[in-house]
Amino acid sequence: GSLPGWEAVERLVLDAHRDALAVSDGVVADYIPRLAQVDPELFGVSVAEVDGAVHTAGDAHVAFSIQSISKAFVYALVCEELGHTAVRERVGVNNTGLAFNSVVAIELNGGHPMNPMVNAGAIATTALVPAASPEERWGRIQDGLSAFAGRRLELDGEVYTSEADTNQRNRAIGTLLEAYGRIDTDPLAAVDVYTRQCSLLVTAADLAVMGATLADGGVNPVTGDRVVSASVARDTLAVLASTGLYERSGEWLFEIGLPGKSGVAGGIVTVSPGKGGIGVFSPRLDSAGNSVRGQRATRYLSRALGLDVFASE
Ligand code: GLU
Repeated sequence: GSLPGWEAVERLVLDAHRDALAVSDGVVADYIPRLAQVDPELFGVSVAEVDGAVHTAGDAHVAFSIQSISKAFVYALVCEELGHTAVRERVGVNNTGLAFNSVVAIELNGGHPMNPMVNAGAIATTALVPAASPEERWGRIQDGLSAFAGRRLELDGEVYTSEADTNQRNRAIGTLLEAYGRIDTDPLAAVDVYTRQCSLLVTAADLAVMGATLADGGVNPVTGDRVVSASVARDTLAVLASTGLYERSGEWLFEIGLPGKSGVAGGIVTVSPGKGGIGVFSPRLDSAGNSVRGQRATRYLSRALGLDVFASE
C-alpha cells in the first residue's frame, strides 16, 4: 500500500517531531571545528511522498552541511556512470564493522575500501566520477546532488575550510588507497572534492526529497526529472541497508527496517521504496555519529506510517 492520506501524514510528522523533541541526549560533533558552533537545539523533520507532497515540522528549512549523506548520492551518480558490477568490484558493498574514518579497516582488507559509505570507499567513489579535472568532478557532483534535491545546492565555505584544515586523517586514507593501487586520480585532489561534497548545504526538507527520488526509482517527484535509473536507485538502497549508519547499521535496520544514511552534522535520510523519503536534522549525535533525535523521529515515522520493509502487517 501507499502512505495514508495527506492530513494523516502531516499530523504524524508533527507528532514525530514533538515526541523526539523531549530527548536531549548526545553531543554535537566537534572534530570539524566549525560543526561545534551549531545550535544543538535545532530540530527539523520532513517527509516527501513519491507523489511530490512534502511535509515539514520544526526547523525543516534550516540549512546544515550534508556531510556523509553525500556519499549515498555520489555513489548513485557513479553507479549510473560505471554500472553495478564495476562499482561493486572497485568499491565493495560489505560493512566494515569499524568507524567511518577507520584506517585499520583498509589495512585489514588488503587495501580494499570495502563500501562506499565509509570514508575510504567514499573517497574512492568520488575519484570514480568521470571528469577531466577535479573542478569538473566537483561540478558534476554539485549538479548531481542538486538534481536529487530539486534545487541548486551551495557550498558552506566555512565548513569546507574548517574541514580542509583538519582532515589529515582523510588525506592519509586517500594516500593509503593510492599506495594500494585503489585510486586512479590524484588522491589529495579526490579528498578535496570529497570535502567539498560534504560541505554542501541541505535542509531536512531537501533530504526528504532526495530520499523520495531514490524511493521513486530515480525520478525526483517534485521536479519530475529523472536523476538516475531505477536499477541504480535500487542498488543504492541495498548498499544503505547494510552500511548507512556506520557501525550501527545493523541496529538501525533492526529497529527501523529501512535503508538510511546519516551524517555528522546531524542529518539522516531514510527511504521507503515506492513510498517516500524521510529527512531529519538534529545536531546531537550518539557515539557512532548518528543524530539521536533524528533516529527517534525516524523510528516513530517508520512505525506510524507502516514503512518497515520486513513487517508483514
Ligand atoms: N566530512 C566528514 C568526514 O569525512 C563526513 C563524516 C560523516 O558525516 O560521517 O569526516
